[in-house]
Amino acid sequence: MARINPGIESCVLCGIRKPETWEHILPESLGGRLQSLILCGPCNHDVSAPLVAQLTRDPSIILAVENLKRELPRLHQAFTKNVSYTAPGPDGAPIVVRADKLRARRTSEGTYLIDSRRAARHLAKLLRKRGLPEEHIQTKIAEFDSLEDGEPLEMGAGLQVRRSTITELAPSLRDGFVDERFAVMIALEFLSLQLPGAVQTPYFDRLRAYVAGGDLPAILEVERLTTKTYAPFHGLRWQGHDDMLEFFIHLFGWLVFRVRFHKIQVRGRLAAYYEELNWVRLSWSDAPAVRRAPSVTSSAHATIVAIASCRPKGTVRASRRFSSELASVCDSRSVRERG
Ligand SMILES: [Zn+2]
Repeated sequence: MARINPGIESCVLCGIRKPETWEHILPESLGGRLQSLILCGPCNHDVSAPLVAQLTRDPSIILAVENLKRELPRLHQAFTKNVSYTAPGPDGAPIVVRADKLRARRTSEGTYLIDSRRAARHLAKLLRKRGLPEEHIQTKIAEFDSLEDGEPLEMGAGLQVRRSTITELAPSLRDGFVDERFAVMIALEFLSLQLPGAVQTPYFDRLRAYVAGGDLPAILEVERLTTKTYAPFHGLRWQGHDDMLEFFIHLFGWLVFRVRFHKIQVRGRLAAYYEELNWVRLSWSDAPAVRRAPSVTSSAHATIVAIASCRPKGTVRASRRFSSELASVCDSRSVRERG
């Protein structure tokens, strides 16, 4: 876990209340480790949390986690607790498995589908209800336990059972993509670490209003892109141009949000943050050309490498702690809103 407090006076998302909760810049559910004191309680609860919750249903995120299952077994295990998997059922309708449990249901022909690991108890109960002797019940349960796939077994009292192995489960991809407001929220939050003064200016009010559910402002452009391969890392990068701030948000190396804030000048500035998801040490370091920063130790199972560099060099100020360095290397003096 790494924590940065940029020392902003008002919440990044409402611009009004005091920041009081530590927000994961990249969601914890995706393995994010970097936290920052930038949101007020209501914004964390009412704005950030619902957007982050959509991620666990986003098909592209689900596919990324599935494709990185071998590289990220623990993340996969934790993430997929909230993912439904399906297999075709005997009646054509899907069999649903969630959190390693098969959801019992009745088929269109009236057959009852149940998880075989829980079937014995249910069968015994049914047979007792139908008045069959206990000895008969125990014999039938033992027979059921050693039943071959597809082989029918008469249990008595008109009840027939069959075991069937599900060979392939596919994640359910029925839900829609995460709202693009999510990407804009991350961009604002990440920016607040380097330009804490700037994000509190009125220019950003239109972006805040959008994240909170408002209309897309003319100064904003969001695109959802993909690269060619999945990789176990997340990355955040922004660069200032003459008339625009441009962000790239990479999730699992593959899904990329390109977010552009137009009509703002942060000339020649660049900041990047990169989070490896499958390393075991946690440390900070600067870009090769920049000074090495002190390392932050943690028991977290991740390596976080942050790169922060700014040009022109005249505005770079040294500081002892990397957190404040990250905040001060890009101070807000050269940020200018363009008419
Ligand atoms: Zn707020």
